[in-house]
Amino acid sequence: MEFKIEKKLSAKGGSASGGKNSLGRAGVLITAHGIINTPAFVPVGTKASVKALTSEQVIDTGAEVILANTYHLYLQPGDELIASVGGIHKFMNWDGPMMTDSGGFQVFSLGAAYGKEISKITKITEITDPSLMIPERFDDSNAPRLAKIGQDGVSFKSHLDGSIHYITPEKSIQIQHNLGADIIFAFDECTSPTEDIKYQEEALERTHRWAERSLIEHNKLNKENKIYLFGIIQGGRDKNLRKKSAQAISSMNFDGFGIGGSFAKKDMSTAVKWVNEILPENKPRHLLGIGEPEDLFMGIENGVDLFDCVAPTRNARNGTLYIKNGKINIMNAKYKDDFNAVDQDCGCYVCSPRHGGVSYTRAYLSHLFHGKEMLAATLASIHNLYFIVNLVKKIRQSILDDNFFEFKKEFLSKYLK
Ligand SMILES: [Zn+2]
Repeated sequence: MEFKIEKKLSAKGGSASGGKNSLGRAGVLITAHGIINTPAFVPVGTKASVKALTSEQVIDTGAEVILANTYHLYLQPGDELIASVGGIHKFMNWDGPMMTDSGGFQVFSLGAAYGKEISKITKITEITDPSLMIPERFDDSNAPRLAKIGQDGVSFKSHLDGSIHYITPEKSIQIQHNLGADIIFAFDECTSPTEDIKYQEEALERTHRWAERSLIEHNKLNKENKIYLFGIIQGGRDKNLRKKSAQAISSMNFDGFGIGGSFAKKDMSTAVKWVNEILPENKPRHLLGIGEPEDLFMGIENGVDLFDCVAPTRNARNGTLYIKNGKINIMNAKYKDDFNAVDQDCGCYVCSPRHGGVSYTRAYLSHLFHGKEMLAATLASIHNLYFIVNLVKKIRQSILDDNFFEFKKEFLSKYLK
């Protein structure tokens, strides 16, 4: 893995979580499809598409890398079809760095979220030893059981057509090699935070065994040595489990690391810190599924290099826009005749003045949303992605310029007021 740290976060001005051993850093990650300046925000293109945006529009937001979703692409159009055209870059017309997640999160969590529309799995034939199965997953949320976890892998029911699939660590890695992203993830079990400690411990052991198996399969398939595999640290909110997981996963020869699982907002920073204090400094770290501005500062301060999150684009499609003073809902009546830019300080395509000093206005976006025009999603997504991608770029620059803590204070004092 080619990962160079350009500058470490100077602890000067750091408070409680900074201290003398500040973990933050700015670096450069080199992939077969180009470089990623870190810290970086990674837009999510779930089904090989950052919703409502062309590849050029994604590039214009400043994004350097996209994360696509293994679970969705395996089900549709199928990883073999994507492999037949030369991989995901060619398939979606994106030349830059790509990542795919392992599919684990969707198998365990998103599967349940889709539950209300489809029926339960009644019989699992793929797992031969029923005593190895963990019964009644997801029952805490009254969701139908869509996934069954065995020691070897997970059976789940497709949310598209109800077909039954069985994913093992080896299968996840095979699918990801077919998709052909530059950075892929080991197959892990993402547990619900409501699980008891005994279950969390069992799941963690399973995740560690699956990590080893993912690595073995990856090394078999990675003939050209162009694809990087990240191991995933789990352990929920428990300090001992998080540290145990960081130790176990960092002892394996991964190219980088993902920090997975669900966090309560208030203790996310400590969980990230526990992990990053243990992970080797010379390998990149990706905090999975996190991307609100205050969390980006927290993660970067605590040594995170990469973030992905659907929030900027999902919020955009709902009319929720990020501006320097916080989030606004453009559907609100007060924007109906507001002929200002969405955010006057924003340099995105939507907010940049042209045509004699005029940009797309709040009033125009309000109109598009109320009229259910497709352009609403495109313009809002361009603005939100630019806002978040460039916030992380500015944070990166503040590390290089030795004024991270000043920038953090200045930004958050307006954003969170
Ligand atoms: Zn903008």
